[in-house]
Formats: sequence, C-alpha cells, structure tokens
Amino acid sequence: MRLEVTPELEDFRREVRAFVAEHAPGIKAHTGVRAPEPELIPAIREWTARLFAAGYLGIGWPAEYGGRPDAHPLEPFIVAEEIARARTWAPIGAGALAAAAIIEFGDQDQRERFLPRIRTGTDLWCQLFSEPSAGSDLASLRTRARSEGEEFVVDGQKVWTTNGQHADRGYLLARTDPAAPKHRGITAFALDMRSPGVEIRPLREITGTTDFNEVFLDGVRIPAANVIGRVNEGWRVATSSLAHERSGVAARGAELFGTLTDLLRLAQDTPVNGGTAAEDSATRQAIGELATRVFVNSAMVSMAQSRLLHGTEQPADAPLGKIFFSELNHDLIDYGLRLQGTAGLRVESDPAAVANGWWQDAHLYSRAYTIAGGANEILRTQIAERGLGMPR
Ligand SMILES: Cc1cc2nc3c(=O)[nH]c(=O)nc-3n(C[C@H](O)[C@H](O)[C@H](O)COP(=O)(O)OP(=O)(O)OC[C@H]3O[C@@H](n4cnc5c(N)ncnc54)[C@H](O)[C@@H]3O)c2cc1C
Repeated sequence: MRLEVTPELEDFRREVRAFVAEHAPGIKAHTGVRAPEPELIPAIREWTARLFAAGYLGIGWPAEYGGRPDAHPLEPFIVAEEIARARTWAPIGAGALAAAAIIEFGDQDQRERFLPRIRTGTDLWCQLFSEPSAGSDLASLRTRARSEGEEFVVDGQKVWTTNGQHADRGYLLARTDPAAPKHRGITAFALDMRSPGVEIRPLREITGTTDFNEVFLDGVRIPAANVIGRVNEGWRVATSSLAHERSGVAARGAELFGTLTDLLRLAQDTPVNGGTAAEDSATRQAIGELATRVFVNSAMVSMAQSRLLHGTEQPADAPLGKIFFSELNHDLIDYGLRLQGTAGLRVESDPAAVANGWWQDAHLYSRAYTIAGGANEILRTQIAERGLGMPR
C-alpha cells in the first residue's frame, strides 16, 4: 500500500480547513445524513455554491462544467474529511449522485440544464430509488412510467427519500417495461419535484426528527427529454452512478475520530469511585479497545484509497469498510451512553442530558448506518460471494 500524501496535498488540506472554518454554516446538532430545519436551507444552498465555486466540489466533473479533472484523486476525500472533521453540514441531497449519472449517461442538453443549477445550490436533488417492497432488492421496484407521446406518465410510491421535503429535483427510477426481466425494464429520470401529482409525506423517525419521506407519484408527467440514458437501461445508470460516490468513506473515518475524542472527554468528566472514569482501569481498557478499532478503520480507509489510486480495488473493499464503520460507530456511541449510567437513559430533550442529548440521538441514529447504502446482511453476502468466491 502506498499513499501519496504529498506536500501539495497537505497544503490543500490546510486551505480547505481554513475555508470550512470561515464559511461553513455552523455545527450540526445531530450526527449522520440528516435533513436540516427549513430555515437552514438558504444557508446550505449558499454553502454548496461556495464549495463548488472554490473548486472543492464536483472536482471530477468535466472542465467545461467547472470540474478539475487534473486534480489529485485524493482531493475529494480530503474535502469530505475536513467537512466531517468540522462537524458541519455536507451538501445535502443526491446532487452528487444525479450529477454522476447525468455526466456519464445524460445528453448535452441535460448537462447544460442541470449541472450549473447543482453548482449554484439552486437545485437540491433527492434520490427516488427505494420503495416499500424494493430496498435491498431494488430491481423489483414497481413504480410504473408509461410512454405517452413526448412524455412519460408515472404512478407509484417511493420511500426513505432523504431530504425529499427540501428537494427541487428527484433522481427517479421507474419501470418502463414490466414484461422484461426485472433488471432490464427500468428507466432513470430527472423529475421536477413540483410537478402536479407529486405528494411528499414526511416520516417521523425513532430519533424524533424528519430526515426522510414517503413520495407518492400519481399521474406525474415527465418530459421524455428528462430520461437519463436510454429507456429500459436505467439499472446500468443507477449502479454506475452509485459506484462513483466514494468520498463518503473518508468522512466516516473522520466522524469516528470525533466520537472517540468526545468519549475521552466524557470519561474525564464522569465521576467513578471517587475519581473519574478516565482513571478507572475497566473504562480505560474498553476505550483502548474501541480506539484500536478506530485506528483499524482509518487504516482500512487508507487501504481502500490506495487501491483506488492504483486501480487495484477489490470487490470486498467497500462492503468491508461500510460494515466495520457502522458497527464500530454503534459500539462507540453505545459505550458513551453506558458510561453516563442512569443519566444515559434521559431523553434528548431533557435539559439535564449530557451534551444536549447528542449521545441519545446518535445512538438511535447509529442503526441507520447499518441499513443505508446497503444493509449489512446484504453486504456480508457480497463479501462471501464476490470477495471470497463462495457459492451464490
Ligand atoms: C438513513 C437512510 C437514508 C436513506 N435514504 C434513501 C434515499 O434518499 N433514497 C432512497 O431511495 N432510499 C434511501 N434509503 C433506503 C435504503 O436504500 C434501504 O433502506 C435499503 O436499501 C434497505 O432496504 P429496506 O429498508 O427496504 O430493507 P429490506 O430490504 O426490506 O431489508 C430488511 C431486512 O432484511 C434483510 N434482508 C433483506 N434481504 C436479504 C437477503 N437477501 N439476505 C439476508 N438478509 C436480507 C436486510 O439486511 C434487513 O435487515 C435510506 C435508508 C436509510 C436507513
């Protein structure tokens, strides 16, 4: 493994860190991929526009749309890491995902219509893939899109649509040929979320927040010019654009170091047997073990980045990293709550809760990371089949 952490990259990191400190819209109250309160949306649009204008987002886009294709391939990871390190908002929604699809599969007209509006924060996107009976088995989705002249008419339901309540556009998958084998008859669309027939119903989650939504589509008309790629070839569009979003792993590594630092501070502030938990040997051993796993996670992130740089990625890299991160994240936060003893049972809104109830919210949210982006059970099967070559 060889990671080129050149002086130029170190300069770049310093520059990004200073930029984030100066312009970011404040610290996020909750961990995870969350939906902001509506009043924060203008600040997040502006923050997104600033990051693009500074050349920190869309780095891999074609130069004519503002990208910097000659940049070092680790730059997007550094930006994601620095945003996570500062515990501020990353750009919300599925703009990066939709842009990857439009750049690879869209036509010139679509690139000109959609990409500049993503850059300026004018359009926030959501991802309209999952359905009530199509999550892990996404290809069994049933939302229908019928061709009618120059339009498609869409009927169906999506669910778990993060930030759907704030989105201007949706990156939608719908079935255009019900007779075809299930991976074949799917088409990708760019949907205007304000079209008649789109109804967004916010869901209230176990955390008490509304991060995702149900989206009902009832006779929604989408111009044929908004088909991304070819009709019935949406599965290829979706799987290829999902594979482009890799910088998230770096952000997750930075998030774990942040939680570990909080855990150390908590141990110093928690009284135990006339001293503090930080002086208690059982606590020290438990935190030592968790810290070891945080460093292992960091080494796994570096290994995955090194393989990416050298074109030697392995099929098990991404699922291993996601499982290791999500289970460690849960265990760190779980330990933080246990350390608080009975105070850990307080609800987030209790004014006496430690750190404004951050630990309680993070504990409930930690389950989301074991599901989103591929449930861990499914990823274990991928490791067995694709990584270890075990029978299907
Ligand atoms: C925080 C969060 C944000 C999300 N945001 C979005 C979004 O913006 N847009 C979007 O489209 N989707 C989004 N999703 C949905 C996400 O992609 C799905 O939750 C995920 O694909 C799992 O699907 P499911 O929830 O339908 O669970 P299911 O697929 O029904 O799985 C339920 C359980 O059964 C297990 N299981 C299922 N099949 C198998 C199998 N073959 N072998 C072993 N175990 C199995 C799973 O591991 C899981 O434990 C989000 C999810 C979360 C948690």
